[in-house]
Amino acid sequence: MPVEKFDVVVVGTGAGGGTAMKMLCEAGLRVCAINSGPRLEPAKDYRLHRQVYDLKYRGFGDPLRLQGKAHQEPYSVEESEYSEGHDLFEHDVAYSNAPGTDWYWKRCKATGGKANFWGRSSARFGDIDFKAADLDGFGENWPVDYAEIAPWFSKAERYMGVASTAQNRLSNPDGDYLPPIPWRCIDYIIQKGAEKIGVPYLPDRCAQLTVAHNGHPACHYCGNCTRGCDVGAFFSPTWFTIPDAEATKNLTLLTNALVRCVLVDENGLAKGVAYVDRGTKREVEIYAQVVVLAASCLETAHIMLNSKSRHWPSGIANSSGQLGRNLCDHLYGGPGFGYLPQLLGQPATPDNIADSTVAWMPRWQNLRNPREEKFIRGYSVYVGGGCGEFPGYYNQIEGFGSEYKGNIKRYYPTPIGALIQAPSLPSPTNFVDTDPVKKDIFGIPQLRFHFQWGENELLMWEHSKQMMIDLFKAMGGEMWGADSEPNRPGTSLHETGVCRFGANPKTSVTNKWAQTHDVPNLYICDASIFPSPTDKTTTMPIVAFAMRSCDYMLGNFRKGVHRRV
Ligand SMILES: Cc1cc2nc3c(=O)[nH]c(=O)nc-3n(C[C@H](O)[C@H](O)[C@H](O)COP(=O)(O)OP(=O)(O)OC[C@H]3O[C@@H](n4cnc5c(N)ncnc54)[C@H](O)[C@@H]3O)c2cc1C
Ligand code: SF4
Repeated sequence: MPVEKFDVVVVGTGAGGGTAMKMLCEAGLRVCAINSGPRLEPAKDYRLHRQVYDLKYRGFGDPLRLQGKAHQEPYSVEESEYSEGHDLFEHDVAYSNAPGTDWYWKRCKATGGKANFWGRSSARFGDIDFKAADLDGFGENWPVDYAEIAPWFSKAERYMGVASTAQNRLSNPDGDYLPPIPWRCIDYIIQKGAEKIGVPYLPDRCAQLTVAHNGHPACHYCGNCTRGCDVGAFFSPTWFTIPDAEATKNLTLLTNALVRCVLVDENGLAKGVAYVDRGTKREVEIYAQVVVLAASCLETAHIMLNSKSRHWPSGIANSSGQLGRNLCDHLYGGPGFGYLPQLLGQPATPDNIADSTVAWMPRWQNLRNPREEKFIRGYSVYVGGGCGEFPGYYNQIEGFGSEYKGNIKRYYPTPIGALIQAPSLPSPTNFVDTDPVKKDIFGIPQLRFHFQWGENELLMWEHSKQMMIDLFKAMGGEMWGADSEPNRPGTSLHETGVCRFGANPKTSVTNKWAQTHDVPNLYICDASIFPSPTDKTTTMPIVAFAMRSCDYMLGNFRKGVHRRV
């Protein structure tokens, strides 16, 4: 049968894939985007503005809905009864952990991916990150410098709409910002305390629209963001890139299509992908001149490791042996929580922005001297609190019945809690491979994790706990406690590194344009190319680097390096 062939096939419609398909469609290419799960429809799938008592299962969802699924834990806030939809999250495709590893792999398989529910923190990386190896002698530099990538950060910020202020700091360069999110009472109190102990407390860079932007409405501060925004007032592929790509009429979007591998021709070049139609369980092949993998950091590596052929016996484009290596993550955890007695009895103010990254403590360690602390690099901290709809401190207060309810009310809105974001360092013992025995329900070898926190990030964790003790003292707060240990690896959703980019094909999977060294018509548009994490989150950089890679690819189409169908 004649088979339709596309200029480009893009795997994944999240922050990276959505950006790629928008740019390529707008440039006139015929693009097929493939997404492993269903089409997300905000009006049906987000159930905001309801109280927990309006929901059948009080917000937790049907306890039986995950019965028989591979990973039975719901993904906390983002996968609650407010956004249960029709299987928006992935629980069918199993993964495995090597002995001693406890990786928690949250996946959103709906169109738009995790950025339907993300926290929106969107700081720029700087040369302190790209050239960190030069500064402290550990690991590899990135193959780009700030001057080269800054214009792409600007393009990403202008498209997404990022709210912040100019701050002139080495660790998070300033960008093109919308007005910042208004601060809450707690922010002013925390800032005063932080100043006393020499820690910056500043508006975060947040991809939430403080004013109407590019045809999207301004945020009305309902505070439900991590359950999805029903008016599209923060950047998400659902409201931004997917409609933009569809408007060109150059997009074919396939849903419930789980890509298993990249197909190669007789020369080992990419010729398309094979996917499993989840409805029929049939395997289908799609052909294209260029393949873009943007299935998210870990799933991209999974697809590549499963793309074995006589040309690529250990996975496609893996002549370096680096595919799956250098897995890094942000260590997350609560280094301190408590309350601000000076706010007891104060009326709640309508600052329903508790679900936003309003402010943060950007990295302040090792800025001038890379070895000032006991650890290298540095971490940042977010502090949450304020007049949210739901008292997030419910599990920090002991009690039962009316006494417990009374205490929840008495403390509202005084409690605050911190979250550390500490980058792990690449380590030869932290990597993913495919499980030699275990397969998922479609017969695809499972991705297997090997990961432990390292000494460097654990030193940051201890440092942050001491900082929180000092901060509570300095701001006149009362500390209730701190987490006894960090969260499980994987919790942050900021994993990096498994297809790192670099100048040397012997030590990296792609070149600096995210084009694989071995297979020039295979590109990657997600955080798997980032060689090391920073103290900042990954999504805005994923968008910026995807824009840059697609621009380079379009140049290759113009030059005839890649030919159109
Ligand atoms: C609650 C929460 C808070 C967060 N906070 C922040 C934050 O403040 N700042 C920040 O920068 N980031 C944050 N993140 C992380 C952010 O959401 C991710 O970095 C970003 O969404 C990653 O985009 P991606 O396109 O690489 O992957 P994803 O969003 O995971 O998209 C991947 C897409 O690929 C598809 N796919 C996967 N496998 C296959 C396959 N085999 N075949 C076909 N399709 C496939 C999926 O269906 C999905 O649509 C947060 C995430 C969550 C959930
Ligand atoms: S607070 Fe703003 S961005 Fe968040 S869900 Fe409400 S309107 Fe959307």
